[in-house]
Amino acid sequence: MVADFHEITLPAAIKNGLIGPEIPLAGFIDTRGVAATIGDLHAAFPPHFEHMFAAKANTMKNALELVRECGMGCEVASPGELEQALRAGFEPSRVVFDEPAKTPAVLRKVLQLGAALNIDNFQEFDRVAGLVSEMQSASDIGFRINPQVGTGRIGAMSTATLSSKFGVALDDDGNREQIVECYVRNPWLTTLHTHVGSQGCSLELMATGVRKVTDLALQINAEAGNRQVRVIDIGGGLAVNFDSAEVKPTFADYARILRDEVPELFTGDFRVKTEFGRSVIAKNGFIASRVEYTKVSGGRHIAITHAGAQVATRTVFMPDAWKLRVSVHNPSGQARQGNMVVQDIAGPLCFAGDMVAKARELPLIEPGDHVVLHDTGGYYFSNPFLYNALPAPAVYGVDVAEDGNARFSQWRQVQSMDDMLAAIG
Ligand SMILES: *Cc1c(COP(=O)(O)O)cnc(C)c1O
Repeated sequence: MVADFHEITLPAAIKNGLIGPEIPLAGFIDTRGVAATIGDLHAAFPPHFEHMFAAKANTMKNALELVRECGMGCEVASPGELEQALRAGFEPSRVVFDEPAKTPAVLRKVLQLGAALNIDNFQEFDRVAGLVSEMQSASDIGFRINPQVGTGRIGAMSTATLSSKFGVALDDDGNREQIVECYVRNPWLTTLHTHVGSQGCSLELMATGVRKVTDLALQINAEAGNRQVRVIDIGGGLAVNFDSAEVKPTFADYARILRDEVPELFTGDFRVKTEFGRSVIAKNGFIASRVEYTKVSGGRHIAITHAGAQVATRTVFMPDAWKLRVSVHNPSGQARQGNMVVQDIAGPLCFAGDMVAKARELPLIEPGDHVVLHDTGGYYFSNPFLYNALPAPAVYGVDVAEDGNARFSQWRQVQSMDDMLAAIG
C-alpha cells in the first residue's frame, strides 16, 4: 500500500474526468499496493503454505486476475464466484469451494472440475459420498469444522460460536467420534477446514480454533494409521485496522502466534491453505464522492454526498461495527486542512439513516469538495444495494509509478440505466 495512494489518485482522477459533476462517485484499487500486501503474506509464511484469496471480498474479474498473478489461489462460496474465478484464469486445482448450501448439481460440478471441496455437514457428506462412488475426482475433499471457540467483537462476523451455522460443531455430543469414523471409513477424505471468523476476532482466538482442528487431524491420522489428512485449511479472518493507515495486525504477527500455538503447520508435514480476503485488499482501495450540497440542520453541519448505503451497506446499517476513516478534499482533490467542524457525511438515499459518518470533526466541507472513504477495497464493491435504484459506480485499478504518475484501468463501468433497471426487474 502506498501511504499517499489516495492523495495521488484522487487529483489525477478528477483531472482525467473519472470523477466530476456528472460522475460523482467512483472506486479505486491500488494495484501495486495489492501486490505488495500479497508479497508480505508470502514472506510471513513458509513456502508450503498455499494462499487462497476469498473472492467475496472483491469479486471483480480484474481483482481476481491481479491476485492470481501475484501467486494466490481463490476461495469461492457460490456458483457465481466459482464461475468468476474460472473466468479470471484460476486452475480448478487452485480453487477452494466453501458454499454453505451446495445443491447436488454444484457438488457434481466442483468434483468434476477438481476444485477443493469443504463439506459443511453430515447430510452434505452423504451426497458427496454418493457422487464420489460413481465418478473420478481430483478434488481435495474434507469437512469444515466449527471449533466452537467463541465470539469475536462482531457477532455477525463470528463463525466459530457454539451455535454457528457453519461446519460441523466439533464439541457437540458425538460429533468428534462421528467425524473420526467418517474419515477412517472413507480414505478419500484428506482435508480439514476451519474459518473462525472475519474482522473482530483476535489472533489468539483464531489460533485456538486452528489448534483444535490440527489436533483433530492428528487424532484422525493416528486412528487411520497413516497420514490421511494431508491438508489443513485455516481460513482467513485476519482483522483490518480501520482506525488509521497503519497495517495491524500484520500477517507476520499472525504467523508468529500460529508458529507458537500450532508448530505442526510449519514443519511441512501438512499442506496448509489460507483464505484471506479483507486483509489482502481492504486497505488498498477507497471510494470517492463529490459533495453535492452542504447544510446546517439543528445546529449540525451535514454534507450531502453520493456515497451511501448503495456502496457502504455495512457501514450505514452497522455504523459502530464498520466505522470508516473519512477525509475531505477540495474540488481539485487536495486534502483540506484546518477549520475543523463537527459534521455528518450523508449518502444520497431516501432514508434518514443513510449516513457514512456521523459527528466527525473534519475540515469544513463545501459543495464541490470530495470525501474519501478509506480502506474500502474489500467488501464494499461486492456489497451493492438496490434500494432507490442507484447505479453501481465505476471502479478503477490504479498503478501509481515511482514518479507519482497514476495509470488508470477501468475494472468496472458505471452501471448503465438499462443494466441497473434490468437488475431490479
Ligand atoms: C469470508 C471467508 C473468508 C475470508 O475472510 P476475511 O475476513 O475476508 O479474511 C475465508 N474463508 C471463509 C470460509 C469465509 O467465509
